[in-house]
Amino acid sequence: MTGTTLPGNHMDHNDIERLDRISAHIHALLHNEQPDPLDLTGQREDEVRQVGEFVNALTEALSSLTNAAHQLSIGDMDVSIVANLPACHHLKNLQATLRHLTWQTGQIAKGDFSQRVEFLGEFSHSFNLMVEQLEAYRQRILGQNRELERLAITDPLTGVFNRRYFMGFITKEFLRSQRYSHIFSAIQMDIDHFKKINDAHGHAVGDEVLKAFTANCQEILRECDVLGRFGGEEFSIILPETEREGALVVAERIRQTIADLKVYVDDKTVRFTVSIGITSLRKDDTGLEAILRRADEALYLAKNGGRNKVVAA
Ligand code: GH3
Ligand code: MG
Ligand code: MG
Repeated sequence: MTGTTLPGNHMDHNDIERLDRISAHIHALLHNEQPDPLDLTGQREDEVRQVGEFVNALTEALSSLTNAAHQLSIGDMDVSIVANLPACHHLKNLQATLRHLTWQTGQIAKGDFSQRVEFLGEFSHSFNLMVEQLEAYRQRILGQNRELERLAITDPLTGVFNRRYFMGFITKEFLRSQRYSHIFSAIQMDIDHFKKINDAHGHAVGDEVLKAFTANCQEILRECDVLGRFGGEEFSIILPETEREGALVVAERIRQTIADLKVYVDDKTVRFTVSIGITSLRKDDTGLEAILRRADEALYLAKNGGRNKVVAA
């Protein structure tokens, strides 16, 4: 046997005193105290001294692990875990997991609701449920916004554009036509003797007539034409890229269709007619008002001419 000699063989008082220090050191570690580094320098390079060095290395590794665990526990995700103890491996895994969770949460905050957590047991379950609900809320709000936008621009009874939207549209159409030298025509319509329909059959039947009227107009119009309810039983149409002749054809088709129409409500059959005034953009038109006034004047002539008529300004 060379080199390794059992300490017990020639332990002296000094060795025993150094072993006591090792015991006290380990006892302190086990009782959650932070012992000072062991100083086991003696007269000889021996095994007790080597054990002391191991204990010091272990103490340092434990201290490093404790510090890393503490930093992680207070939310420092970037603490470097350098010690090589088995627990450090698990702590690194936990650190990677928490980092990934942080990243996923950031993605969700940016609106990526496809993120799901697959570790952390019960937490994952609740977290994923939360993300699913967020996504459901978002979808519901988007749907409600679309519905609100639709309601803001449509007439609730007939579903055609309301006056506010229609005026905005016609303003844009006017500016666009001026800028690019495009043409458009405007149609102004008013149902004849509508008051009599209400009086004879009741308001609810009058409502059905208004709905039937717009539905039949929509059938005749093209995608790009815009029908709006101006108020009561008055409606307007903008026909983009349409000359006077084209507008006359559309207006006459509407007049004829309505004159032929029978609206059945409950046990009643209602027939009615519409008077129509049309006009087209002119080169010397400086504003929208002039166009609308011309269409109104033409409508007035159609009414005075006996109703159920189309008059072009
Ligand atoms: P004219 O041929 O001269 O246009 O006669 P008219 O009876 O159609 O015109 P008037 O302006 O005298 O009457 C329009 C009526 O439309 C009066 C109003 O009570 C009715 N009205 C307005 N809005 C609605 C509605 O939303 N539903 C119903 N049922 N009636 C409405
Ligand atoms: Mg009217
Ligand atoms: Mg009327």
